[in-house]
Parts: sequence; structure tokens; C-alpha cells
Amino acid sequence: MAPLIVLENLCRHFVAGDATVVALREVGLTIEAGEMVAIVGASGSGKSTLMNILGCIDRPTTGSYCISGRETAALDIDELATLRREHFGFIFQRYNLLSELNALANVEMPAIYAGLSPSDRGARAGTLLARLGMTDRISHRPGQLSGGQQQRVSIARALINGARVLLADEPTGALDSTAGEEVLRILDELHAEGRTVIIVTHDMTVARHAERIIELHDGAIVSDRRTERARLAPAARNLAVEAGPPPARWRTQIGRLGEALRMALASMKAHRLRTALTMLGIIIGVVSVVCVVALGEGSRRQVLSSISNLGTNTLEIFPGKDFGDVRSGKIKTLVLADARALAQQPYVAAVTPTVSTNRTLRYGSVEASALVNGVSEQYFDVKGTKLAAGLFFDAGSVRSLSQDIVIDDNTRKALFPDYGGSPLGQTILVGNVPCRIVGIIRQQQSGFGSNANPAVYLPYTTVQARFLGDSSLRSISLRVANETASGAAELAAVDFLTQRHGAKDFFILNTDDIRRTITSTAQVLTLLVAAIAVISLIVGGLGVMNIMLVSVSERIGEIGLRMAVGARRSDILQQFLIEAVLVCLIGGTIGILAALGFGAIFNALTPAFHLVYSASSIVAAFAFSTIIGIVFGYLPARNASLLDPVVALSR
Ligand code: ADP
Ligand code: MG
Repeated sequence: MAPLIVLENLCRHFVAGDATVVALREVGLTIEAGEMVAIVGASGSGKSTLMNILGCIDRPTTGSYCISGRETAALDIDELATLRREHFGFIFQRYNLLSELNALANVEMPAIYAGLSPSDRGARAGTLLARLGMTDRISHRPGQLSGGQQQRVSIARALINGARVLLADEPTGALDSTAGEEVLRILDELHAEGRTVIIVTHDMTVARHAERIIELHDGAIVSDRRTERARLAPAARNLAVEAGPPPARWRTQIGRLGEALRMALASMKAHRLRTALTMLGIIIGVVSVVCVVALGEGSRRQVLSSISNLGTNTLEIFPGKDFGDVRSGKIKTLVLADARALAQQPYVAAVTPTVSTNRTLRYGSVEASALVNGVSEQYFDVKGTKLAAGLFFDAGSVRSLSQDIVIDDNTRKALFPDYGGSPLGQTILVGNVPCRIVGIIRQQQSGFGSNANPAVYLPYTTVQARFLGDSSLRSISLRVANETASGAAELAAVDFLTQRHGAKDFFILNTDDIRRTITSTAQVLTLLVAAIAVISLIVGGLGVMNIMLVSVSERIGEIGLRMAVGARRSDILQQFLIEAVLVCLIGGTIGILAALGFGAIFNALTPAFHLVYSASSIVAAFAFSTIIGIVFGYLPARNASLLDPVVALSR
């Protein structure tokens, strides 16, 4: 069988600025399984460098390092991590425990990366700590333990995955002599169980515990001798703690994910203020996106309901070429005969000619100026106007030029401000013409096209004869038959009138077009504002990235330690990515709740206008904040996972 460790012609160079430091030169060394070896030498002689290479957290510059006959240079990063996790156990001079975890959790950590189930690893860590006399310190944090106790925790951590090779770099260097003795006794015991123990030390009394002492000087081996202890070959005892069969793959995955989640939560808790401020950026972004979309949807509905007050599918025909045609008022081609002819068309459900003028209304001593509309009895049908009281005038009134008037709610308020009874049947003066009120139009919903100006309606015949002295029309309004598309009806009406007039000296307003224009304008506006809100979400994401970068550089030592005990690159990546995503997800959730709360308050305060939240905008905000977390968390997490374990550990 191949020896456990074989080094041949191994060199390690460090490039420091222009100079190259040779930390190890031409090292050749064979260590058999079960040996206890001490590596001694002055400070700077290359002991730690050798140890790091033996433990696979550093690689030789040249030369070969074989473990049980396998060349380590041929192994990739994750295979090296597996070796560190399953074969080696590290014991550091400075213990390198994670200060936010208690003793038990520190011991368990390598087992998580090995994929042990929580109950198994808890039980095994407990057994190990008990064996090292730490039963009553299991839930203490490193800060609450003495140096010797911390070193015992770190020994338990080295053993949790059943390491066959223990690498201890100056394990007693930071301890007083009693605690140091205790640690050496434990190492002796572990050796007696059959493990290979390699101790780095500059203290000869420590080295004498070993069977073999290798001395380094300036990176080269200067002596390699056996001690008396070697002759007292220890009886190999049964290993008290041994690695079980490898756990199922899915369990490994889930365990690692769960651990990454727990670590992310712990670090968020440790930096509460920072986390909260980072979240604030995401919260503001999500609140603005969700609210803007709700605002857009609310205004769209409001506009739609206002437009529906215009009546459905109405065409308005005006003289002139287009809106703002200066000659429009002089063009007299639109006449009553046109309206009558249109009424015969199959696509027309109702039609009314319209004339209008401005007059002063008078009731008693109260005066108001109003728009006087002359319309036919079908006008109210065309417009879908509803009455609050009374009746519309009828065809007979139109024929007989009656002075029956229908007033709107604004007129009622203007002329009868404190009037108790109904104004129906009262006579008012329109200019100098007395008119009898026969109907009152119901108050219109506020919104598009409404204003506070009084308007009254008289038969168009009356208006033409009494006020205008002219038989031309201001416009013709028609309601398109239900079964006809408004576009088709518009085209037919254009053809029909162009034929009658011999030229197209009119233009048509289609309320359906207006509806569509307004709706699409509202949508474009919503999109625009939502885009601005998305920008604020992205700015929030940049904040997350910034903080994660800081967090990675603060925790380089922790990352190095995790790698030394066998964390894969993907474990480190996962841990930081999950932290970023969690910040964003929690921020997103708070943001959505805040937006809903804001909406509830807003809706309670403004009964006329409502924010309308759509499930899709909430889901989108949620998904978007997760994506932000992944996108902006990736770079810091990748930086962390690409760290070199030795470099990270040495910080
Ligand atoms: P020891 O543990 O015996 O005190 P080390 O193995 O730590 O010695 O260092 C051996 C030599 O290599 C020293 O001269 C040290 O300065 C150098 N060295 C170790 N690590 C690095 C590094 N990362 N960069 C540059 N020089 C290094
Ligand atoms: Mg050292």
C-alpha cells in the first residue's frame, strides 16, 4: 500500500512585489498512516507553508504531493475541498472559531458541508465535546470560553467528519502550560486511536510528544529523526468516533441550503441596522412600483367610467375640415335634412341635430349664464342621459317650437340655490324667452367632460327660431346601432354625407376613438412612471450589492475557515447569494405590505378615486426583487467563493 503522504522535490515560492520568497525548497518527505510527526524550526522557516500544503489549502509551486498514491496536482478545487472535509482535520493556533456560533454549532459546521443530517451531526458533536470534557459548555460562544476550551472545541471540529489526519499548527502556542499539556494529551490519545497527527511547533518540549521530529531551516528539511517514544508503539485503540456511510445526495444539497439560509439570517441579525438600511432601498423601490401601477390602474378605470358617461358608440358630425377649422362657424352645409336622412340609415339607432348659443338665465332676481343647447327629442337617447325628475320634451314639442326646457344639475344649483321645492313647472327666462322647466338631468359623475357651467336643453326648432334666426346646425350626434362597429358606421356616415354634399366639408368625432386614445394615453403614462419606479428599484439593488461587497470583505477570515474545513466554492457562493436574495425578498415583502397599507389609507381619504392593486403587479414586484437580489448579489458572492483559502485564512 502507498504511504499516506509522499512529497517529492516540493517547492513553494511567494511573489512579493519584485522579489520572490522561497518558503519551501526541494522538500522530500514520506509520512506513513498512523505516525505522530512534529515539524519544528525557527519562525519563518516554512512550517506553516508546509502544513498548508499538506492540508490541501495551498498548492506547491513545483514538485509533487501524493496522498495515498494520488497526485494532488491532478485534483480540482472541489476534490481538494472533499479531501479537507473528509480526511484532514485542522487545528489552528488561534482556534479560528466563528464568534457568532456556539460551541456545538462550531463543531457541527464541517459536518454540514459533508451532508450529515441535523440529528446525526448534533449527536456526534455532542459526543465529541463530552469526550473532551466540554459537556457543560456546549451552548457557550467562543467569547465565553477560555483559550484551552476554545482549542478543545476546535479539536472536536477537526474530528467531526472522522478525520484520519490531524494537522495542528502551533496548537499550544496561544495557551498557558496547563491548557497546552491538556491539548497535547488529547492529541496523544487521538494518535493512540490510530490517527496520523502532524504538529507544527517551535517548542522542543511539545515536539518530544511525537515519534518523529522533522526540522526545517529556511524552507529545507535539515533533520528527520525518531524519538524514544517511537519505540513504545501504542496499541491502536478503536476509534471512538468514526465517519458513517456517505449521506444521500439530496440530503447533502438540502442540508447545505439550510445551512446557507441559517448563516445568512445570522449575519443579517448581527448587522441589523445595516440590513435595515439596505432593505429600505428595496422597500422604497417596491412601494413605488406597486403604487404607481395601482395608481395607473385606478386612473384607467376612472377614465373609463367617465367615458362611459359620454354614452356608448356615439358619432358627432361637425362642419369644417377638422377641430379648430376657423371657417367651421361659417360653413352652413350641415343641415336638418342631413340628420333626417341619417336617421334612415340602418347603422343609426338615434340621431339629433344640435345647435347652441349662450344666454343668460333668470329666475326672479337670480341670474346665471348658460349654454343653451337646441336638440331633438332623441338627444337624450343618443347621449344616454338620465333624468333626476320630470320628463324630456317630445317630438310634438320639437314640431311646435314649444318653450319646454330641461335643465341640468348645475343650472338647478345656480338658479334655485335655497329653493325648497322642486323647480319643475317653474318658468325661467332664457335671454328674454320664458321657458317652463319640464325635466332636470341627474348629476353627472365627476370626471372627463364635466364642469360646473350650467347647461339647458330646448327643442332645436325653438333655439333656431327664437335665438339664432338661422337653420344651419352646429353638429349632428348619432348613436350607432348596437350590432354595428363604430368604425364601420363612421366610414358609412362619411360616404353617405360626402355623397350628399358633393365634398367632405365635415368631420366626425368618434367617442370610441376618444375612449381608445385616452386609455392608451393613460397606459403610456403608467408605463413611463413605472419605468422611473423600476429605476429606483435598481438603485436599491446597487445598494444591496455595495453592502454585500462590504460584508464579504469583512468576513474573509470566516470564508477562509469554512473553506479550510471543507466548504465548496458553491457553498460559499450560495451563502452570500442567499443573504442578498433574503434582503431583497424581505424588503420586497415589507414593500408590498407598505404599498397595500398606503393604498388602504389613500382609498379611505379619497372616496372619488381608488388605487387598484393587481395581483400581477404584486407578483411581479416580488419576482423582480428576487431577481435584483440574484443579479446584484452574484458579484459579491462570486468574489467570496473565488477567494484562496490560505490567503483568506491569513487575514
Ligand atoms: P513559519 O510558519 O515557519 O513561521 P511560514 O511558513 O509562515 O513560516 O513562512 C515561510 C516564509 O514564507 C516566510 O519567509 C514568510 O515571510 C514567507 N511567506 C509565507 N506566506 C507568504 C505569503 N502569502 N506571501 C509572501 N511570503 C510569504
Ligand atoms: Mg507559522
